[in-house]
Amino acid sequence: MNALELLNSGSDKLQRQKIRSSRLDSEILLSKVLNKKREEVLVKLERVMNRGEIFAFNDLIQRRMRKEPIAYIMKEKEFWGKKFEVDKNTLIPRPETELLIEKLIKIYKYKKISILDIGTGSGCILVSLLIELPNSIGVGIDISRKAIEIARKNALLYGVDKRIKFLTKSIIKLHNCKFDLLVSNPPYIDKKKIRNLDDGIKKFEPLVALNGGNDGLDVIKKVIYKAKEILKINGRLALEIGNDQSKKVSKELKINNFIIERYIKDYKDNTRCLISKLIK
Ligand code: GLN
Repeated sequence: MNALELLNSGSDKLQRQKIRSSRLDSEILLSKVLNKKREEVLVKLERVMNRGEIFAFNDLIQRRMRKEPIAYIMKEKEFWGKKFEVDKNTLIPRPETELLIEKLIKIYKYKKISILDIGTGSGCILVSLLIELPNSIGVGIDISRKAIEIARKNALLYGVDKRIKFLTKSIIKLHNCKFDLLVSNPPYIDKKKIRNLDDGIKKFEPLVALNGGNDGLDVIKKVIYKAKEILKINGRLALEIGNDQSKKVSKELKINNFIIERYIKDYKDNTRCLISKLIK
């Protein structure tokens, strides 16, 4: 069996499971097995596969057939132009979170600030910010110890570990510190809607990273309330939120002495991130 035949067989199996990216996924998984770039595999499709390779490939295809996200199978996901290690203990970084990074870099370029990332997960937000803001420092917290381990590895990988402290901690337990910027992509999915999520998300991504409780706002409210204590005056709180949460979250921010500086929209015109400032 050559590479093309194996690729086709994998792609057919995925298609039967109604996986839309079946061809691409099959190519990615074969490249993983062969430990080569996808392009290299594609220019040499006549290459003959040995039994070990066929076996390993079919194993990965089986995992993908059960809807396991490609990022978990590959153990990495690209975010803000860099590859981040991920596993089942961390949410998979999403492109909408990059909107937040983009705006924050514009605001803080060349400045020297202290950042707290709440629910850091893979550390993708904090690590990306510190790569771009070389004079700044940060703390990343998460209640998942295993997520913190992954975040540490990512910080080390990109040489920002000396400027980051990662702690397994809930935001409630944070005292006696003040930051210039708080960022968070908190769990914001309404607990009643978790069951409507795609299988790939629901069955594989960590529930604690998704479940935002009542209306999906429980954690967001906690973060906003606590932010008043751990943010400097005129410090900013940058939040990623769900599609339909902009009004409610804005209201909550205003009640808690924040003004909203930016509403950041995704390409579908939904407000997905809010940047606000603590004014008193
Ligand atoms: N901060 C991480 C991310 O944006 C994890 C967020 C989370 O677990 N809710 O991907």
